[in-house]
Amino acid sequence: MNRYQVTPSEKLIIVTDVLPALLQGNYQPTASDGTCQVALYIEAGQVSQIRQLFNETDLSVPPGWQILKLPNQWILVPAFVDCHVHLALDAITGFKGLTGPVADEIIERRLREVAEGGIMALRDGSDRFNTGLQARYLSRKLSVNTIRPAVIATGRAIFRKGFYGTNLGGEGVTSFHEVENRLLQLRKEGADQVKVVLSGLLNFSYAESTDPPHFSLEEMKAIVARAGEYGLPVMVHANSDQAVRLAVQAGVHTVEHGFFLSAETLQLMAEKDVAWVPTVVPVAAALDLYQGSSREEKAIKKIIEKQLKMISLARELGVTMGLGTDAGAPGVDWKIGYRQEMKLFARAGLSAADILTIASENGAKVLGLNKKMGKIASGKKPCWLGLEKNILSSMENFKGPAGIISFR
Ligand SMILES: [Zn+2]
Repeated sequence: MNRYQVTPSEKLIIVTDVLPALLQGNYQPTASDGTCQVALYIEAGQVSQIRQLFNETDLSVPPGWQILKLPNQWILVPAFVDCHVHLALDAITGFKGLTGPVADEIIERRLREVAEGGIMALRDGSDRFNTGLQARYLSRKLSVNTIRPAVIATGRAIFRKGFYGTNLGGEGVTSFHEVENRLLQLRKEGADQVKVVLSGLLNFSYAESTDPPHFSLEEMKAIVARAGEYGLPVMVHANSDQAVRLAVQAGVHTVEHGFFLSAETLQLMAEKDVAWVPTVVPVAAALDLYQGSSREEKAIKKIIEKQLKMISLARELGVTMGLGTDAGAPGVDWKIGYRQEMKLFARAGLSAADILTIASENGAKVLGLNKKMGKIASGKKPCWLGLEKNILSSMENFKGPAGIISFR
């Protein structure tokens, strides 16, 4: 893979093909594959100007500027965002293998692998050892010398005592007073968002969910309101239509997983601008684990097909989707998991341009990083990937980024 790190003293023009949808501003496709050619002027470490090139002669090079021409078979896209990972997990045993705090070296290795996959920002979906906040600290330290993803941390998840969530949050809550104390603690620790567990895990014996929501609508509303006072957006783990609908009505920021949701609930999400992170790949990975046990295999296949149908409908209804992998869960690798999730979105019928927008622009929005990344735009720092253009005809061709352009 090629890497290019732009330094603040450089005056650089990058000439490349791009998808107009991923640029800020009005640019027209000129090639049959929907791309156009642009010159990106970078000075003082950020984009100062973007010019569409209709002819070779359109390129003007002021004195003292360097040119970097990317290969013809590449397109440049904003770096990817993974909206849901668990940096504490080993991608093999899942939470079963998490018995104590994770060593810094292990987290650093996982962050490196994430970066190699072209993922320049991630949101950690919490665990009881608070690995997200540990990883955010490590990532900031490492970013001085090397490219590492920005980490959005959720601290320990809030869940109702006696229900699913011990692995995510340690101690469950029994009253709103305890919720308030937890939120105060999260604010003190410097969490970026709050994770609330509203449902249990998927049960692969059934292709439906019978698990009632773990908090009432009034309770969820109160949690969201208090978190809002502290400036903390709420991400909710919810499976079943009832749980997702309750979360949406309570005004949460993002719905995680959201298996078994209905068209009506999706419509409500579109209206209320609640983002959805469908995380299909951990379920697809479970298919390998359950192969041969016909009941589970059948249920898992049904669950995946239903989720892909809903992804397609969400696209039609204009729901903001983010791409999240649950990386670290059994069978979900740090780099490859992201590609697999992209291919599942393609299987749902989404175009490469849609998927790339979801991966970058929407992800940045979900993480609250849209001022910094998500679009190729004037005033933003270079945080981009070079991808082989052949993914525009089929995401199946995607084998990971061919190049990474970042800043120092
Ligand atoms: Zn998760």
